[in-house]
Amino acid sequence: AQTLHIVGGGMAGSEAAWQAANMGIPVVIHEMRPKVETFAHQTGNLGEMVCSNSFRSDDDEQNAVGLLHWEMRAADGLIMATADEHRLPAGGALAVDRDPFAETVTTKLKAHPNVTVSYEEITSLPEDGHWIFATGPLTSPELGQAIQAETGAEALAFFDAIAPIVYAESIDMSQAWMQSRYDKGETEEERTAYLNCPMDKDQYEAFIDALLSADKTEFHDGETAGYFDGCLPIEVMAERGRETLRHGPMKPVGLTNPHQPDVKAHAVVQLRRDNALGTLFNIVGFQTKMKYGAQTEVFKMIPGLENASFARLGGIHRNTFLNSPTLLDAQMRLKSKPNIRFAGQITGVEGYVESAAMGLLAGRLAAAEILGRELPAVPQDSAMGAMIHHITGGAEAKTFQPMNVNFGLFRPVDGLKGGRRGRKDRYKAYTDRAKEVWQDWLSNFP
Ligand code: FAD
Repeated sequence: AQTLHIVGGGMAGSEAAWQAANMGIPVVIHEMRPKVETFAHQTGNLGEMVCSNSFRSDDDEQNAVGLLHWEMRAADGLIMATADEHRLPAGGALAVDRDPFAETVTTKLKAHPNVTVSYEEITSLPEDGHWIFATGPLTSPELGQAIQAETGAEALAFFDAIAPIVYAESIDMSQAWMQSRYDKGETEEERTAYLNCPMDKDQYEAFIDALLSADKTEFHDGETAGYFDGCLPIEVMAERGRETLRHGPMKPVGLTNPHQPDVKAHAVVQLRRDNALGTLFNIVGFQTKMKYGAQTEVFKMIPGLENASFARLGGIHRNTFLNSPTLLDAQMRLKSKPNIRFAGQITGVEGYVESAAMGLLAGRLAAAEILGRELPAVPQDSAMGAMIHHITGGAEAKTFQPMNVNFGLFRPVDGLKGGRRGRKDRYKAYTDRAKEVWQDWLSNFP
């Protein structure tokens, strides 16, 4: 069979290599470390975990990340099997002993008869051959430029500026309402694209105080270069003046509160629909470096969000990622150069588990293509499918930011209770359905 080239031997690249090699495809992993370093990696190992040593929840019935674990184990995933071997006690979470973990990933890949590792930096997008680029959040600068030259400068970001994302069902609609500023838009859907939460003067002042005193995370050395341009953290805006937010993302103009039509709000927090399903909303302009605990406390001060559940909290990081919804097809191929796939965090997923999962898919899809096998689409109701569907089509392209796996990405199961009370049953129904369709899809691989 023809060779599959994989650039980057991190979470995604290692898993992709394993999957394709097990399907009989000769694989070359091109990894720049240890010759070329990143600011976060410490070793030359494949599958190095750059920060925490946790793969998060291992609960495959009530947690979307746990479900992704299950799906990867069912697919003979290298990352999961190795994590299980080097598991550390951590309650319901899957924590691992990081150095032995990465050493074992490296040893297993090098021992595989179909895998070769070539230690070199790749700096361009090749015209021929089968390639998967899985170069991660710290893609080398020269390759980043080559990708930008192919995709356009706008379509490759070097920072994420993630505003918190809230589950729609957890927002109190007796206080919030749907309306776009000045009712702008051609269709009814556009005129009601935003969800608004009003604040009076006292609420606003208390909110600013909370922002100013909240616990914040420090940036790494060299991490901030360039980010201060378009996406100031909300707490930095508050530091520039108590009125700055009220004249910025929280300006109360062009909106009428149907619950209190005669009262003019002092400030308004806006949330924007984050996915086509309408199950997730992001808080507009609320990218932040506040610590996670502080974020939940501060954001629950917003009227209407007192009981909000967050699909993900905000952040700002050095992170190279593509505008996948516009650039990639449903098989993760670059539309303009279909001999190239992308996988891992560079496709706009976030986290070790999600990155490995997208590597697993890319490896299998590329191998099937080389073998000339037709595959049915990855089922949208699996966790794998929910993710790939989100990044290659379901997410709003204009505001696309990296995403963790979460149940807000799943299509509803008919006939189940909404809201908090039905949650346990709903999550069980999502995970049952996901396991079944995923097993079904795997049966396409003899
Ligand atoms: P990586 O694992 O980074 O692998 C990419 C590989 O490509 C690297 O080995 C790199 O050396 C190589 N490479 C890059 N450019 C080239 C090139 N041109 N040629 C050849 N090789 C190249 N996620 C979590 O789940 N938990 C955390 O605590 C966490 N902390 C993080 C902290 C930092 C500072 C950063 C930057 C990220 C963090 N992440 C964390 C995100 C984490 O990096 C990813 O989830 C995961 O490692 C991504 O997997 P990946 O395979 O896409 O990229």
